[in-house]
Amino acid sequence: MSSNEKECRELILRTHFENPELSHRDIGKMLGIVQSTVSRVLKRYFENLTIDRKVKNGKNGCSVSEKDHKRVVKQFRRDPRGSVRDVANKLNLSSSFVQRTKQRGGLCTYKVQKAPNRDERQNMVGKTRARKLYTEMLTKPHCLVIDDETYVKADFRQLPGLLFFSAEDKFSVPEEIRKQKLSKFAKKYMVWQAICSCEKRSAPFVMTGTVNGQVYLKECLQKLLLPLLKQHEGPTIFWPDLTSCHYSKDVLEWYEANGVTFVPKEMNPPNAPELCPIEKYWAIMKQALRKNPKVVKSEADFKRKWISVQKKLQPDVVQNLMDGVKRKVRAYGLGLEV
Ligand SMILES: [Zn+2]
Repeated sequence: MSSNEKECRELILRTHFENPELSHRDIGKMLGIVQSTVSRVLKRYFENLTIDRKVKNGKNGCSVSEKDHKRVVKQFRRDPRGSVRDVANKLNLSSSFVQRTKQRGGLCTYKVQKAPNRDERQNMVGKTRARKLYTEMLTKPHCLVIDDETYVKADFRQLPGLLFFSAEDKFSVPEEIRKQKLSKFAKKYMVWQAICSCEKRSAPFVMTGTVNGQVYLKECLQKLLLPLLKQHEGPTIFWPDLTSCHYSKDVLEWYEANGVTFVPKEMNPPNAPELCPIEKYWAIMKQALRKNPKVVKSEADFKRKWISVQKKLQPDVVQNLMDGVKRKVRAYGLGLEV
């Protein structure tokens, strides 16, 4: 359409210069174009010496009004959490206009970070411990090993996240595809794993129910963490979370007996999950599991599926997650935003 329009404008101009005696009306008749268009094109040419139209802001020829632009930017300043649709409704503008104005105004969309709800005391303790942790342990080039456990529903289709379906007509699709039924007491497995900043991982430990101190010591630390540490030629630091079973008398003795360098309690910041990326690792794993919507039959079956999904992840996924840990601990210790 636009190249046609341009040709049309060139034709009007040429005809005018070749036949200067012709009126706008005559040119229109000759070319089969309405007189008003001829007049407009020629007028624009003599005013601006171009037949190109002024570049308008925005698509569909609607120009951005300076006033509306300011209103949109102002509204986002007033309510940064407002969605494009909210703002459009509030200001009685179209969503596409608000979206374009937002981009033009240099407004970016950021993800809201989840932050732990720490009280003043925890923050004080946390900062002191983070400072110690950073200066006494993390400035060394050692491998950093972290561990944690999480619960995963046996029915992978029930893992958190949005599901979509495609159809020409929503209701032409069977209900079991349109709807996801969530059972309140779905069967879950507990999975424990240790991951290292160098990308090495322990095998997962899987069970139903919860881990107690003895199971943690025998099944997780002895059978899985120790082999992971021994895979290393260089030194390692093990950073457990503050759960009491990670610092029980038995476990402390086990660290000692096996020569495991670990982050002592007085250097372990409380309630600071944002420093430690294992939650993100679980999220990545669960997302990957959900792509293969199976129902797990047994602990062994779960373990197989977990390992197979893990193999398909990007080769440096853990390393990327662990990259920022030292920087974050340092920042937190200095009272900066992590
Ligand atoms: Zn390592």
